[in-house]
Amino acid sequence: MTVTLITGANKGLGFEAAQRLKKLGHTVYIGSRDEERGKEAAEKLEAQYIVLDVTNEESVKNAAIEIEKREGYIDVLINNAGISGNHSFVQDITADMMEQVYNTNVFGIVRVTQHFLPLLKKSNQPVIVNVSSGLGSFGQVTNPEKIESTVNALAYCSSKAAVSMLTLQYAKGLPDIRINAVDPGPTKTDLTGHGFQTLEQGTDAIVKMATIDNSGPTGIFINRDGIIPW
Ligand code: NAP
Repeated sequence: MTVTLITGANKGLGFEAAQRLKKLGHTVYIGSRDEERGKEAAEKLEAQYIVLDVTNEESVKNAAIEIEKREGYIDVLINNAGISGNHSFVQDITADMMEQVYNTNVFGIVRVTQHFLPLLKKSNQPVIVNVSSGLGSFGQVTNPEKIESTVNALAYCSSKAAVSMLTLQYAKGLPDIRINAVDPGPTKTDLTGHGFQTLEQGTDAIVKMATIDNSGPTGIFINRDGIIPW
């Protein structure tokens, strides 16, 4: 049985990905920083839930201990939890605001990856999917033909660029694990409040990279249409 953990899966893209992977036969753990929200989401999907706040070392450590106790391993880790932060003018963004966004979007991935690596290493086909964004792609934000070039969000965009580089560095350092970054594309969720894609379209790349095997790629960045520039 494929055991999959998705952080921030109590709603939005994480919840939709959980639903789709559950239908494909995965044992899905809904990671949620709030017990009530996690439980409610897991009940809807008849999935498992685990309390996991990616900004809290103890919480991540305890989640890894608990899943190891219950399953012994995980096959798929989807680092999905994210926040948008403040989209004020760049001159109004403080280091504290940046730190808050990086603590979730960037350091959160490091915390979760670090604590779950021992469980992933027990899998025959370990896979990590990092949910990045086209807004963190240098190629997209500098291309005037792309919608991403119209956004000016210091904290969010730079945090997602960091997620992409984290992905490459992890992929290089851990060649036995398939580790890739995905851009869901503009999808209406609580994070964005707008976006033209359905949740299904927004999770196509996540589901695709969560279901690769050992012959699949590592160290790539895709959206639902294929490879995108870093
Ligand atoms: P969302 O509906 O706001 O969901 C975000 C999820 O992350 C929620 O479950 C939230 O939990 C969780 N979360 C936030 N901080 C957390 C923490 N400290 N610990 C654990 N969970 C935490 O947003 P979404 O659009 O589905 O976003 C999912 C991912 O996709 C994010 O990484 C986002 O940057 C990325 N993305 C989204 C789009 C888009 O257009 N929607 C495009 C590109 C990339 P709570 O319910 O407790 O707040």
